Amino acid sequence: MSQQTATHSNDNPFESMMSRFDEAARIIGLDEGSYNVLKSPQKAVIVSIPVTMDNGTVQVFEGFRVVHNANLGPSKGGIRYSMDVNLDEVKALAAWMTWKCAVVGIPYGGGKGGIKCDPRKLSKGELERLTRAYTDLMVDVFGPDKDIPAPDMGTGQQEMAWIMDEYSKLVGYSSPAVVTGKPLVLGGSLGRVEATGRGVMVSTRSALSKLGISPIGCTCAVQGFGNVGSISAKLLQMQGMKVLAISDVTGGYYDANGIDVEAAIKYRDQNNGTLEGFKAQKITNEELLELDVTVLVPAAMENQITADNADKIKAKLIVEGANGPTVAAADTILNKKGVMVVPDILANAGGVTVSYFEWVQNRLGYFWTEERVYRRADRVMKTAFEAVYAASQKYNVSLRIAAYIVSIAKVAEVEKLRGKFGL
Ligand code: GLU
Repeated sequence: MSQQTATHSNDNPFESMMSRFDEAARIIGLDEGSYNVLKSPQKAVIVSIPVTMDNGTVQVFEGFRVVHNANLGPSKGGIRYSMDVNLDEVKALAAWMTWKCAVVGIPYGGGKGGIKCDPRKLSKGELERLTRAYTDLMVDVFGPDKDIPAPDMGTGQQEMAWIMDEYSKLVGYSSPAVVTGKPLVLGGSLGRVEATGRGVMVSTRSALSKLGISPIGCTCAVQGFGNVGSISAKLLQMQGMKVLAISDVTGGYYDANGIDVEAAIKYRDQNNGTLEGFKAQKITNEELLELDVTVLVPAAMENQITADNADKIKAKLIVEGANGPTVAAADTILNKKGVMVVPDILANAGGVTVSYFEWVQNRLGYFWTEERVYRRADRVMKTAFEAVYAASQKYNVSLRIAAYIVSIAKVAEVEKLRGKFGL
């Protein structure tokens, strides 16, 4: 089969995704037809978005939306605003969403979008015009039963509110279920903001229990202090863990006695969103990854753990809060060292799980309590972890390959049942 001979380079996220896909496909003996269907996105839309800037000039931004697969349901996935956005990255992120939704068993396919821009350099008005114009151009792609965006790096509740409003205007009625991660007053769900970090915490607890390690007093380091990193750190600390280091774009912050995460969040919120100047020993982001801690949570971005630094990692457990933080070449090194890795498509699936709950609540027109959201989301995460763990035992593979096995098998089965080949 062609996938057995494919080779993939290191730092291209799509190639990185394909390496794992190839390995899992080979192990389950995926037939060539399914392999060929699942390796390519079903749809990739590229748009040029003209925006009148505050100074009166017109700037054109490049925007993307990729639907990797919509077999299990409408495609689901965030929209990223970053200067690094490119088609290969969005394709990889869309495929990861397919596997992520399948692994936690929610009725969605995978999609992702992005705009190549630096949101910190745009005014609120420019961001609004950009987001609305992008929505106008994607009106045939988006839809509550077709493709449902959500926040990702560089976007949040405000962008989702603009998307909801613009889409609703275009279709002529209020359509909250077209997008998730909305502000509460606009049909958002309780617990959505904390959802990814909470899922990271639940996965960490499940993994620690398999390793026979108590969370009480167990040390950890968290890379990235955005929504996912900061909430993961806070919730891990609440489990009795000692957070020795945190980091953001301004570098790493270390305290041998443990960082006060609540204080760091407060500091960041009053300091233009960064930790610059936070009182702790300054280290680099690279040093953070190599700290002598039990648990490492990379929650920043892709390609952080590579063939160059994997050997220096001392953590016993890595829980991937970010999408694609470990390149494929590092997997082999970590496996050899006996490091347990809870892969991104499982570890950070709490976010999309509560997005699903938000969509359900929007369609019901009936809202759940926070307690109900947490209880159901925790159950989804725990059940998915156990299924992936069981597959890793059955096939004698890492949790990452096991997660791909579980999800690819599911998506391929649905592809067959629906008989979509050749249509
Ligand atoms: N952007 C998040 C992720 O990568 C959430 C996606 C969603 O809620 O649809 O999982």
